[in-house]
Amino acid sequence: MALFDREDYIIRNRDILDPEYEPEDLDEREREVNEYASYLRPIIKGWNPNNLFIYGDTGIGKTVVTRYVIRELLESVEQYDDIDLNVIELNCTNTSTSYQVAVHLVNEIRKPDSEKEPLTTVSSERDVLSETGYQSKRVFNELYKDLRDLGGTILIILDEIDNIGNDDEVLYELPRARTHHNLDVKLGVIGISNDYQFRKNLSAKVKDTLCEEEFYFEPYESAELQNILRKRTESALFPDTMDSGVIELCSAKAANDSGSARQAIRLLRKSAELAEREAINSNNPDMLITETHVRNAVTEIQKEEVVEGMHDLTIHGKYLLLAITSFAAEGDTPVRTRRIYERYTNLVEQFSSKPLKRRGAHDHISKLNMKSIVRDVDTKGERGNFNKYELDVAVESAIEALEADSTIGELTKLRETAEQNNVIST
Ligand code: ADP
Ligand code: MG
Repeated sequence: MALFDREDYIIRNRDILDPEYEPEDLDEREREVNEYASYLRPIIKGWNPNNLFIYGDTGIGKTVVTRYVIRELLESVEQYDDIDLNVIELNCTNTSTSYQVAVHLVNEIRKPDSEKEPLTTVSSERDVLSETGYQSKRVFNELYKDLRDLGGTILIILDEIDNIGNDDEVLYELPRARTHHNLDVKLGVIGISNDYQFRKNLSAKVKDTLCEEEFYFEPYESAELQNILRKRTESALFPDTMDSGVIELCSAKAANDSGSARQAIRLLRKSAELAEREAINSNNPDMLITETHVRNAVTEIQKEEVVEGMHDLTIHGKYLLLAITSFAAEGDTPVRTRRIYERYTNLVEQFSSKPLKRRGAHDHISKLNMKSIVRDVDTKGERGNFNKYELDVAVESAIEALEADSTIGELTKLRETAEQNNVIST
């Protein structure tokens, strides 16, 4: 066999299994699509659009539904000569302040981000702004100048707006720009957030206008994920490449954890990749994706997440993770902070470093907790006031990630211990 051949095994089109792939038709979001459409209907009538706030966990279709509905809207609007609809779409992932959002908005108008087929329909001759160095007022004035020039009906979509945290001035300014700055336009703002807390923490004056209409996306249930996955596999995989139960298992795992379609798709893709690799290695074109591949995929993805999460840990964070993992390997978690700290101290000294004070160590445990690598366990009902922790990922994943890290030294014992205690399979 040649080193590279184009033999067909399992995956027909890997791009379609990309969690960011946008399918042409959406399943399981009919209610949201209709609700969305009803909020946007005033635009078609030539009325001023509503401001709209959308929230719900990550991976549940907020962005794809928005893009789908806006595309439909743009298409419908074409029939009406008296409506001039300008859409500006901004993803706020890389903005942490209102100032940055304003700069990025101006630049999206002047030079739309062409990378991902943005919904943005406008462009302008003016020069883009640099990221820093202007007075905030100047940036907003530039923005109003552009909006005034665009005219007509303007819809501004701010996706992942929760990135601006408490600095929500832009959300106060934009919906009021029409009246405060005398813009002869019809202006609507759609804010999309992955974080419900953000909605709660908005200042009252922002809530009043931005959240004039709002709706919530529910996480997907297992049956809904099954339909989404099944549809995806029709074009992404060759026929009859899945054992029964694979879609169900991927959906159940994602539904139990997050209800995220992104997570379900990622799991399915990883399972398909593991099966394909096995098919190629064993030269077996009849290989199917099985539930075992899905289980292995879960571990592998978790491992990737731990590895990813470990990137910006200091060496102390890593030793604390090692300490907690070694308790897990002994089948002795959840474990109290005091014992974690003792073991961490021993480990650090063994690798000839100086341990942190208790307080510092605890900050690192909190960080692991925030990254969902470990979790704190409710100790209510037990006597005394103390924290207990356990791994929030499979022991196997944590061990593999630790073993793969070259900065912490040899860890042969860890895996042996875990195997002896039957917490991982041999
Ligand atoms: P959110 O914006 O809520 O974080 P997205 O809209 O980006 O989530 O959805 C994540 C991915 O999940 C999308 O790129 C898409 O591939 C898939 N997806 C989500 N909802 C659906 C759906 N109803 N039908 C098909 N695919 C979906
Ligand atoms: Mg999104």
